[in-house]
Amino acid sequence: MNKHWKVLWRKENGARVFKVCETVAEAKEYRTKLRDKGVTGDIHLISKAWPYGIQKNAGPRPRGYLWCPYCVKWRVFKLLSFRTKEFPTPSEEVLCEVCLIPIQNYNVRKYNHLELEGIKEIQKMIADG
Ligand SMILES: [Zn+2]
Repeated sequence: MNKHWKVLWRKENGARVFKVCETVAEAKEYRTKLRDKGVTGDIHLISKAWPYGIQKNAGPRPRGYLWCPYCVKWRVFKLLSFRTKEFPTPSEEVLCEVCLIPIQNYNVRKYNHLELEGIKEIQKMIADG
């Protein structure tokens, strides 16, 4: 399986850094290397190329979480402010707090059965558990 994976962690100054790996095995190996080098915070493995449905071992949805098909985990989705080169004016969007995939993403909606809901309904659903 030649999927593309991203290993994501934060430097001591809080900056997000990542390394792209070919396979999940390579990504896990890199995570071990980072641990050996003394990285102590969270090190996340993100699927860049392929969305994953809810895994059998993931358990039921914790209150306030949605399934992130790219983190392959239950994650908190938050209203975050961001800007890009193309859109230099800061805009707000509900994103996975780790991999920053927007809640509007087709696969995020699909795996959380949110195909038809608007953002307000989704936020209410998250808050209500
Ligand atoms: Zn995510």
